[in-house]
Amino acid sequence: MAAALTAVQRRVMRAALRPRAVWLPQAGISHAAEKLHLPPQRSIPPPAKYGGRHTVTLIPGDGIGPELMLHVKEVFRHACVPVDFEEVRVSSEAPEEDVQNAITAIRRNGVALKGNIETNHNLPPSHKSRNNLIRTSLDLYANVIHCRSLPGVETRHRDIDILIVRENTEGEYSSLEHESVAGVVESLKIITAGRSRRIAHYAFGLARAAARRSVTAVHKANIMKLGDGLFLQCCREVAAEYPEITFRSMIVDNTTMQLVSRPQQFDVMVMPNLYGNIVNNVCAGLVGGPGLVPGANYGHDYAVFETATRNTGKSIANRNIANPTAALLAACMMLDHLRLHGHASTIRQAVLASLDDPRTHTPDIGGQGTTSGAVQSIIGHLPRG
Ligand code: ATP
Repeated sequence: MAAALTAVQRRVMRAALRPRAVWLPQAGISHAAEKLHLPPQRSIPPPAKYGGRHTVTLIPGDGIGPELMLHVKEVFRHACVPVDFEEVRVSSEAPEEDVQNAITAIRRNGVALKGNIETNHNLPPSHKSRNNLIRTSLDLYANVIHCRSLPGVETRHRDIDILIVRENTEGEYSSLEHESVAGVVESLKIITAGRSRRIAHYAFGLARAAARRSVTAVHKANIMKLGDGLFLQCCREVAAEYPEITFRSMIVDNTTMQLVSRPQQFDVMVMPNLYGNIVNNVCAGLVGGPGLVPGANYGHDYAVFETATRNTGKSIANRNIANPTAALLAACMMLDHLRLHGHASTIRQAVLASLDDPRTHTPDIGGQGTTSGAVQSIIGHLPRG
């Protein structure tokens, strides 16, 4: 009897860990000319309110965040985008109450656009990253970035087109650390079957919706046999449900080497949290740098859009030299999520057309242009009234 009960309990636990639903990408992937668009993972985006206008939470963040958000607002005004921003300021040293206010605002509006909030290494261990708190509190489990060679931007490699799906809520970002005895610190990396399957389903669903050929799971299961082994096993099981998509796995160190030598071999990639951070940064570097690539964080109920590499750019803040591309493209992804595809497409095309002109290039991509110059050029590429 006891053994039977244990088996039942095991089944119940397995069922509880299994993702209850998979929110497949929909709307935008097939939307013409939306090559940079990443699809929303929520079946129903927040409804428009008050005469077709949407309210979005805006968190300017630190460093270059506030100036870039002003530029996003300016471009939106010129493109007549029906979005009103509810601005909530959260900075690195703000009390946790401010972060909670921001989380409440995102819960209310469903969608946010944010700059990165600095995480000061010198603050005590009890101080949690504000960015991480926002993502985990809202269960924004899928971080998705699209690294793609851009027109007019000179890079070592051409024809890169990679979708990277990063598990955003566990792994090395558990914030569970302790010093067991003086001089011995344990940092816990948490990998669960439920969340590994959930992110694998997300990646394969995205690959299917975007008509991609392969998904590569990145891991270090040769060393972390239990943790990364479980992640890999879950990816393998989920892969079996998508027979038309080739599944392969690659150890993280080899992955970074393969990326910098032959990035075109990658199509869709899926990985645990920290590897995702590293691979996102490598890939952003491959297509021109942190100023160019947008990112999205999707959960079942909420979505938050930001730049792919989540930099504050403190050292270039208020100097009018930050590249506005990543922030504007993140805003376009947000518009797609709100199903304002026409506005997203118009702004995206203007950003890409402007980027094709080297006179608009900011110093990070080898130019001598300014942020405001690039933004004026983008506005000049928007269709007239
Ligand atoms: P530090 O590393 O000293 O803290 P930082 O805060 O500026 O400086 P990060 O925010 O980590 O550094 O950014 C990494 C690099 O990417 C920096 O050189 C920064 O200037 C650059 N960077 C980030 N975003 C942009 C952008 N939008 N345009 C141009 N450069 C950018």
